[in-house]
Amino acid sequence: MTSGTTPDVADAGSALSSVEAYQAAILSAITPLAPTSLELAAAEGCVLAEDVTAAVALPSFDNSSMDGYAVYAADVARAAEDSPATLRVTGEIAAGDIGAHRLAPGTAMRIMTGARLPAGADAVIPVEWTDDDDARVAIYRPAERGNAVRYAGGDAAEGETLLTAGTRMRPMQIAVAASAGRTAVSVRPRPRVVVLSTGDELTEPGTPLVPGRIWDSNSYMIAAAAREAGAVASRRAGVPDDPKGVLPALEEQLAHADLLITTGGVSMGGEHDVVKAALRKLGTVTFRKVAMQPGMPQGFGMLGQGRPGGPGAEKGVPIFTLPGNPVSAYVSFQMFVRPALAALQGASDLSLPSVRATLTGPVRSPSGRRSYLRGVLDGAKVTPLSGQGSHQIAYLGRANALIIVPEWETMLPADDTVDVLILP
Ligand code: AMP
Ligand code: MG
Repeated sequence: MTSGTTPDVADAGSALSSVEAYQAAILSAITPLAPTSLELAAAEGCVLAEDVTAAVALPSFDNSSMDGYAVYAADVARAAEDSPATLRVTGEIAAGDIGAHRLAPGTAMRIMTGARLPAGADAVIPVEWTDDDDARVAIYRPAERGNAVRYAGGDAAEGETLLTAGTRMRPMQIAVAASAGRTAVSVRPRPRVVVLSTGDELTEPGTPLVPGRIWDSNSYMIAAAAREAGAVASRRAGVPDDPKGVLPALEEQLAHADLLITTGGVSMGGEHDVVKAALRKLGTVTFRKVAMQPGMPQGFGMLGQGRPGGPGAEKGVPIFTLPGNPVSAYVSFQMFVRPALAALQGASDLSLPSVRATLTGPVRSPSGRRSYLRGVLDGAKVTPLSGQGSHQIAYLGRANALIIVPEWETMLPADDTVDVLILP
């Protein structure tokens, strides 16, 4: 479909959108997924939709931080290498021992790491400061009150908020929830993403290649990138360049997806741009040019609005139409889809980390567009890769960073300082 004389409501005009304006438009259209309760093991990687508070103080009882002897600090105040304090050993307390032990003044009890401190004791002498005797222990050094003791509540008070809504459940946070006595937490589920690659030239890796065809890499790459960003992703490869087939292929996925991504078929014109042709008629997907390189042609909107059933059905499922060139698709994913996936998860942790670094060589960039050049970041230096074509997947595979060249720059010399995005 070529642009005619009638204004096209699904095209955001011919002016370039800034990266930020486009990101903001996307985020304003996304509603977080409804929370669900998941058992701790299943909640890993999901984002909390509630605060988690401590059911008990952490730790919940005074205990020893070392293997040694529980004592009264006053009894070892004058202990020294040449005149040890010698105390009768009246028992042993192991971790998990729930007996009511009481320490008499002038005596010691052997105690293990994590074992409950006996009543009366106010210090633990590490075994290394003693002769390790079971009957009468010689202690060669004095200890302060509280030495090697972990007091109840020293980590958190009962009822204290340990994790706040919006936190991603990484292994540390899983441990916190378990320590707080939780078996399940309320989280936003991992978004279900379906990636559809379009193009008559695509064949599956593993099948013989004939001249004119290429192996589909985008659907694998973008599904993997979505998983890395916390989603559950599947791919639907090789949707043919047939305008009549594209919409049904997309609609087929609506029931299984919280977010759809297509690659290919959205270039600047031509009847082969089937994704654009199929979606622009709906009026709910907007195509625009973003002032960046690679990744200028972008489309975003909602598909399946007003469908019956399912959460979010009236609003529809967000859809991104990414350009077909692999590097463009990848950069577009990181700049636009990644924040959208974070928003679906009710998280704010998915923007790529950025550092300042010194260029080891010069770079070029088109005027009026922000470049995201593939580079290798090593400490505070970044080396632009020589292959910057948006089809150059081999070079993308060597990159660990994107070098940002601002819209107003067309050339930056070596030794200039640039912003660099670190790739996940
Ligand atoms: P398009 O956006 O459909 O015009 O495609 C732009 C370029 O990207 C063409 O060279 C395509 O062959 C290539 N391309 C499109 N889809 C894929 C894909 N799934 N994997 C690898 N390359 C692709
Ligand atoms: Mg194509």
